[in-house]
Formats: sequence, C-alpha cells, structure tokens
Amino acid sequence: MNSIEHFINGKITKGFSKKTSKIFNPATGEQTAEVNLASKNDVDLAVEKAKHAFTDWSRKPPAQRARVIFKFKELIEKNSDEITKLIVSEHGKVYEDAKGSLTRGLEVVEFACGIPHLLKGEFSENVGTDVDSWSIRQPLGVCAGITPFNFPAMVPMWMFPMAIACGNTFILKPSEKDPSCSIKLAQLFKEAGLPDGVFNVVNGDKETVDALLTNKDVVAISFVGSTPIAKYIYEKAAKNEKRVQALGGAKNHCVIMPDCDLDQAVNGLMGAAYGSAGERCMAQSVAVAVGKIGNQLVNKLAKKVESLKVGPGLDKNSEMGPLVTKQHLEKVEGYVDLGVQEGAKLVVDGRNIKLQGYEKGFYIGGCLFDNVDKKMRIYKEEIFGPVLSVVRVRDFETAVNLVNEHEFGNGTSIYTRDGDVGRTFATKIKIGMVGINIPIPVPVAYHSFGGWKRSLFGDQHMHGPEGVRFYTKLKTITSKWPKGIASDPEFVMPILN
Ligand code: NAD
Repeated sequence: MNSIEHFINGKITKGFSKKTSKIFNPATGEQTAEVNLASKNDVDLAVEKAKHAFTDWSRKPPAQRARVIFKFKELIEKNSDEITKLIVSEHGKVYEDAKGSLTRGLEVVEFACGIPHLLKGEFSENVGTDVDSWSIRQPLGVCAGITPFNFPAMVPMWMFPMAIACGNTFILKPSEKDPSCSIKLAQLFKEAGLPDGVFNVVNGDKETVDALLTNKDVVAISFVGSTPIAKYIYEKAAKNEKRVQALGGAKNHCVIMPDCDLDQAVNGLMGAAYGSAGERCMAQSVAVAVGKIGNQLVNKLAKKVESLKVGPGLDKNSEMGPLVTKQHLEKVEGYVDLGVQEGAKLVVDGRNIKLQGYEKGFYIGGCLFDNVDKKMRIYKEEIFGPVLSVVRVRDFETAVNLVNEHEFGNGTSIYTRDGDVGRTFATKIKIGMVGINIPIPVPVAYHSFGGWKRSLFGDQHMHGPEGVRFYTKLKTITSKWPKGIASDPEFVMPILN
C-alpha cells in the first residue's frame, strides 16, 4: 500500500505517529494509499524547522525570493499533467476542470513573483523640521494553512506562495482526503531552489490542526473549509494570539431575471451548479427565478441535467466526475431524500446511477429541485453536491432580500440585460463576490478572494493585495539625524513642526 508521509525541512519525513487515514480513488471506489496523520511531535518538529529557516529567508532580498518563485512557476507548468492527474485520482473531478483549478492556483504564483512591488512602503519627507517618516511591511514568521478537499492544489496555492514571497515560512496541513498534490508541490518548490524548512507539509486531522493552533511559534493561520470548523479555527487561533483568516461554507444564489438571455443563463448555471459535481465553494446551488421565468427555466434546465455525462475524471467524455468519498456521497443522497420529504419537487433524480465497470465509484447524477422554500433545510444548508434548488420569487426586491437574509455570503450572480438592475444588485447585495452575467465570479489572482457573513471569519480576504496585508505587518519609522547642539528634554506630547 502506497504510504503518504510529511514533507519537513526539505525532505519526505516519516511521522512519529502511527495513525493513518485511507485514500480512495473516487472513480473506482478502491483504496489507493494511506496517509500518515501527524501528532503534536511531528507538528512541533516542522514548526522548529520553519522557525529556523525564517531567519535567513526573511532577510533575503525580495527580488531573490521572487526568482525562486518564478522558477517554481516554470516547474508547475512543466509538471502540470502529473499534478492534474494527482488531483483527478484523489478528488475525482474531471481532468480539464482539475487543470483549470491548477491554472487558477498558478496565477497566484505568477502574482507572487511581483510581490517586491507590493512590499514597498510609503515615505514622507520632513514631517517635522528635518524629520522623515516611512513605513515598511515586514514578514510575520511561521505561518500555517489548513485546507479543504475540494481544491487540493488551488486553495493551498492561494496561501503559501503569497506567504513565502512576503518572506515568511509556511506549514501546510492539506485535507487528509487528497494530500498527494501538496507533497508534489513541496518537492517542486525545493527543486526551484527554495531553502529547506521554508515550506513544509504535515498531513493530519484535528489533532494535527490543534497542535498548529496552540504552538506559540505559529503566528498566523489561514483556513479554508466548512463553516463550523472555520469558526472553531477563528476562535481558537485568536485565543492563542494568532492572526487568522478563516473562510467557510457557502450557499450561492443565482438570480434569473425575466429579461435575461435565458440560454446563456441556463448554460452558465449548468457549469456553476454541476461542474466539479457541485463540490465548489463558489458553486451556484440556488437558482432564484424571478417573476414569470420559472417554468421556462426549469424546463430548459431539466433537459440539460438529464443529459449530463457522468463518468470517471480521466474519461474525456465525462462532464461530471464522482464525489470525493462514499461518506460524502451518502450525505448528498441523504439531502436529496430530505428535499423530497420536505415537499420540494424533485424534477431530476440523480440517485442510484450505475456506471458499467465503475460500480463501486462514488457517483451521483445531477439532481434538480423545483418549488424549494426558504424554510427547508435543503435551502438553508450547504449540500456540496450536484443538487440545484429552484426558488421562485415575485420580484427583484424579494430576490435581493432572500440572498441577503441567508447566513452565508460567499458568491452570487444575476442574469439580466438591464444595466440598472445589475448595478443595483451589486450595490445592495451582502455578498463578498458578485457576478453580473458571470456564473462563477471567482476574482483573479491580483484581486482578492473572500466571502461575507458566515462564509468568512476574520477580516482579510485571500491572495491579491489583501493577501500581502495578511502576511506582513506594518512598521512606521520616524527619524532625524543629530546635528549641532543637543535639544532640551521635552515632557509634552511631541508635535512635529
Ligand atoms: P472541512 O471543514 O471538513 O475540512 C477542512 C480542513 O479542516 C481539513 O484540512 C480538515 O482536516 C480540517 N478539519 C476537519 N475537521 C476538523 C476539526 N474538527 N478540527 C480541526 N480541523 C478539522 O471541509 P472539507 O469537507 O474538506 O471542504 C468542504 C468545505 O470547504 C465546504 O464547506 C466548502 O464550502 C468549503 N470551502 C470554502 C471555500 C471558501 O473559499 N470559502 C473554498 C473551498 C471550500
């Protein structure tokens, strides 16, 4: 059985702990590996190495750090097929989708190559007579990232290239469901010339995470995952005096206005609801049909959902792969059962799908509910599978209120031809990322990614300018060169003039 270990201080490191977790190929349902789960001792070792490496790495000129990042970017491009296949083999998503997610991660690496420009501070000459003042941004120290299963390359890449380019060292704790990609990225970073100890990967579960949250030498925590765990991480990290950004779950609404180009909206929704089998934090899981558009929308969607091509991720014909684990499949199927019990109309039922030759794979077909009500649990809770709920509302204002009243605030979209409606929507909506005739409004690397409400705990979004702010602290220096006679002592608050 293939055993996945940790990557500490520049090499694959066998853990002290004997605890393991199973890794499956979701397409076949077979176990392919087991991953070692780090104990507190493993975490402490990684932190010690990262702390040691920080001294030199943080003092390296930013341009020299950027050269290593640039080489890393080239190596990711060269190895993109292998990394993509690792994503497919442990997550299950289809090859082109996996490749797209790697590219979105790569864009953050590209952005990080230009970080020297963003580390520049501000300078004011003569704030008092012969007194100058300037600010600089300095790295924090040892930072840690804890990431979810659904983007095994992209989400870690929102974090560690940014932190490391800013001069920090980093410990990544990827999802225990698909950890291989992180180990591969660590090996490539070393090949690019990254000094040992700057980037470390510890695999593990809650015990590993808790060891990171309580280690006094870890100064900042970046987290992406479900809302209950995000809240736990936020509270525990803050209690242990760490800087923290914790991104949580989502229930993204796509508002369909009666004046929209319906074919465009339906195609957009299909990709946004069923792409990656709905296992995306920016998946559109609620379609809000405004006014008379409901019947037409549901009819068009139903035809497309019924003909979705479900299959293994490496099959070029597959549009949607399996779910990540058997447990997750059962959870999603349970939500479909629940929706029926709650009285929603199941227009397309993807349960009980069987694929010849892949009978043990974790597959579910696309599911479509109509007449979903805001009191139902299938509306309120995140399902994280290929299940789209249609909610019908009277008018635009009701649609806006519906979106704003939901506890999550990650992403949303509106389809309309009316510029004023689009603009009003963008202004009034209480959501972090908004699309106007764009189904999945994921910001590019040089903007920042993050939701509102219970989709983000903490105050800084990830990557882009907010990422630089998160991974650096500000220092402001005021200076004067001595000349001539010493000035008398002053006992009042100094006023520089
Ligand atoms: P999860 O919360 O179960 O796990 C995320 C990470 O936390 C993993 O590394 C896991 O090992 C760790 N973890 C799990 N339970 C823990 C516990 N009790 N204590 C400490 N650590 C724990 O999430 P998941 O199932 O891997 O990923 C899916 C979730 O992530 C969805 O809710 C999705 O919306 C969310 N997500 C959000 C974003 C975003 O940007 N907001 C992006 C991707 C995924």
